[in-house]
Amino acid sequence: MISYQIAEHGRPLQKVLSETPKPQGTEVLVRVTRSGVCHSDLHIWDGYFDLGGGKRFYVKDRGCVPPFTMGHEPFGIVEAVGPRAKGVKVGQKRIVFPWIGCGQCAMCKDELDNYCTAMRTIGVVKPGAYSTHLLVPHPKYLVDAKGIDEAFAATLACSGVTAYSAVRKLAKLTARDSVAVIGCGGVGLATIAVLRATGVRNVIACDIDAAKLEAAKKMGAKQTVNTGEPDAAKALAGIAAAIDFVGMPATAALGIGALRKGGRYVICGLYGGEFTHPLPPIAQRAIGIIGSYVGNLQELKEVVALAKKKKLKAMPVATRPASDAAQALEDLKSGRVVGRVVLDFETAAA
Ligand SMILES: [Zn+2]
Ligand SMILES: [Zn+2]
Repeated sequence: MISYQIAEHGRPLQKVLSETPKPQGTEVLVRVTRSGVCHSDLHIWDGYFDLGGGKRFYVKDRGCVPPFTMGHEPFGIVEAVGPRAKGVKVGQKRIVFPWIGCGQCAMCKDELDNYCTAMRTIGVVKPGAYSTHLLVPHPKYLVDAKGIDEAFAATLACSGVTAYSAVRKLAKLTARDSVAVIGCGGVGLATIAVLRATGVRNVIACDIDAAKLEAAKKMGAKQTVNTGEPDAAKALAGIAAAIDFVGMPATAALGIGALRKGGRYVICGLYGGEFTHPLPPIAQRAIGIIGSYVGNLQELKEVVALAKKKKLKAMPVATRPASDAAQALEDLKSGRVVGRVVLDFETAAA
């Protein structure tokens, strides 16, 4: 198989040839056809997350040690199945749910794999989908996506399920309520689509990049706010919720500060830094501050169902040959990507 690997953090990915693995037990071998490039891959590539105050969380401390294959938005075709893999057939096209837990703990038994403390995430801890082949530990993590464009289907494995899970964490909204989406990269745009698909009319898209705000409008945002402008806080005042896909001190201050009483701030972004806030107003304003990290298998199935019913608008997706993986990361890092880049492994494998 061919993989595009981190040989050294922050250095261009290397093309590596290796033996294609054979599925054992309940494992399934998937031949990857499409693989989304997610913004969080940039942190894994760099090798750390910024915790603020000069502190860092190093990805090597949770098992991501080079040489490592990233890629947690896989779509592909079942190529081989282990002797104990039931309910799956060679040739089936599937999205791979990557947020896989230990399979043993109480959270995993409740299918809340993303709350497991010993996750085996594909492309984060285990070898990922920047590769022609991918081993999946169990067929239950394969989700049918019939009728959905394959590149768009790949993006549902992270950006789609992350958006869906974040939206599910909002409190009950009235028809007048506005929801701000802070950061209109791939996941932000997917969130606008989920909000619209679930009946939220007043979506305010926030970004510092005019091209991303334009894309957000096309996804169904009613209003856009350039958060680089000095009156951004005023424009957002009174929102019922903010979903923050940046996750830096300035965006947290903006989102939390703009909430109406009883509003909710959901943080998904991992940009980094630290944040302090006076405690009494959290109680007095009855606001909620909640983190959301990817989503669970059921949530992936639900967002896929929305896409199958054509309720979910697809964000702009640019498909590039897999051999462009290193350049795709560079482009994402420099902010040149609107929507999602998805790697195409069919042309690369040819
Ligand atoms: Zn991701
Ligand atoms: Zn577990």
